[in-house]
Amino acid sequence: MSVLQQRQPSARVQAAWQVLETVQDPEIPVISLCDLGVVREVRENGALLEVVLTPTYSGCPATEVIAHDVKTALQAARLGPIATVLQRAPAWTTDWISAKGKAALRDYGIAPPGPVPLEGAKPICITRRRQPPVPCPRCASTHTERIAPFGSTPCKALYRCLACHEPFEHFKPI
Ligand SMILES: [Zn+2]
Repeated sequence: MSVLQQRQPSARVQAAWQVLETVQDPEIPVISLCDLGVVREVRENGALLEVVLTPTYSGCPATEVIAHDVKTALQAARLGPIATVLQRAPAWTTDWISAKGKAALRDYGIAPPGPVPLEGAKPICITRRRQPPVPCPRCASTHTERIAPFGSTPCKALYRCLACHEPFEHFKPI
């Protein structure tokens, strides 16, 4: 098989990606699992269509719901036998959220995560790193304050905008 043929996914795999683009995250129903970066790979293993999923946060209670939603959507599309494969390494990072996904979060009223700070070979810093300001998703003011480390889910922190006085959630970069 040539390199070109290997890169070209089968019609079944392409159809599966199209279906997966429509499966929304159960906790943030404006972003697809693909744009969230949870769907890592779709591959054929003999007759089985395998969907590789990396949950956003280990122990995220939505993981089972996500696997179920993926199976249900693909079964409805009659793409043959389906299996989901949980892949926990490498760990999911907010850097995997697509630009389209980050825009959807902002429109939904959740401040999207910025890039994950590079740790590199720097010595471990035990003092609190100064976080860049989180802009308000409604009025874009950077005059905001964090009012709680956790929002509706552990993945999000609760903020308040000091300009428009609206509370909002921030998807924390990890
Ligand atoms: Zn605001």
